[in-house]
Amino acid sequence: MERLDKAKYDDFVKENYGSWEEFREYCVKLPKIELHAHLNGSITPKTMNELIEQRKDKEPDLANFSVKNYIQPNFQLEDFFPLFNTVYRLTDNIKSIEYIARNVLEEFSNDGVRYIELRSTPRKNTEKGMTKQSYAETLISVINEVNKKGNIIVRLILSIDRKSTLEEAMETVNLAINLKSSGIVVGVDMCGNTNGGAFSRIKPAFEYAKKNGLGVTLHVAEIPNSREDNLEMKSVLPDRMGHCTYLEDDILKWAKDNKVAIETCITSNIICRTVKSYETHPFTDYIKNGQPFTICTDDKGVFNCDLSNEYLIFGAINNYNKKQLFEISKKSINYIMCKDNELKRKLKEIWDNFEINNLN
Ligand SMILES: [Zn+2]
Repeated sequence: MERLDKAKYDDFVKENYGSWEEFREYCVKLPKIELHAHLNGSITPKTMNELIEQRKDKEPDLANFSVKNYIQPNFQLEDFFPLFNTVYRLTDNIKSIEYIARNVLEEFSNDGVRYIELRSTPRKNTEKGMTKQSYAETLISVINEVNKKGNIIVRLILSIDRKSTLEEAMETVNLAINLKSSGIVVGVDMCGNTNGGAFSRIKPAFEYAKKNGLGVTLHVAEIPNSREDNLEMKSVLPDRMGHCTYLEDDILKWAKDNKVAIETCITSNIICRTVKSYETHPFTDYIKNGQPFTICTDDKGVFNCDLSNEYLIFGAINNYNKKQLFEISKKSINYIMCKDNELKRKLKEIWDNFEINNLN
């Protein structure tokens, strides 16, 4: 929030929302869809510290992992590197995964997210008896439990790290195919460090996923000069693409023509320095060009953001009033991977009810 020059938008906010507080309240109340959120990056420092407390009696070295107040107003990506080690350590067993998933989903729900396709990379830890399969099944069982409560509808995307071998990537795709019948797993994702190697190496796994009815989303063009990779990714015909901050115009046009939505992660792009400022974020071009896109958080725990605030930033910069912001959030229903028409109807009903009660 501190990165947004609020004074510049004071008049607009006053006129359309009353005050910044009322603007924030509206953004929380607005039903929202989250389509790009990594489980591990979404863990808050609070949850990490709770887990450390729970586990440190049996694992005394965990006391050294205690998460301090990393989140300062002008935090930079470098400030978070110690966090990544902590997250890796804390997600090494089934019980902790359950605790984390419950907390993360509850936070999204409290933030007014009504539908989420959460993503996570299945991890194995032989020492603690965790397999990729039991990891994914644990998430499915927590998701079923959360779905039953009815405040938020959750689906799962299994992520594949860019540096995986083709064999490892295929293992995750096969796991996703086997778990599709749960009704929870809807697709696969490619994520991870952009230095992880050429996409072409693991491309067949994503083609196989598509052939077997899974949705596909890919982290695309997060760095400049990745033309060859971008073309390879496009040829898989992904359902959505993440980030795309350096995507060439011809591929953007292809995405528009084929209704392939961009998962735009505003604050994440700023902190990772792929975009200089909120004011110069490519979403202004997306609006101008009629590009399909959906606003997402990426790693809300690491970047200290939430989806309501991303909507607030987007609304302020583009001078969007209540109705316009509502239309943006409603459009995301078109971009979900879940092909269940009954679910889409249910989501439309939630948005229609909000409109009747708040915008007429
Ligand atoms: Zn991401």
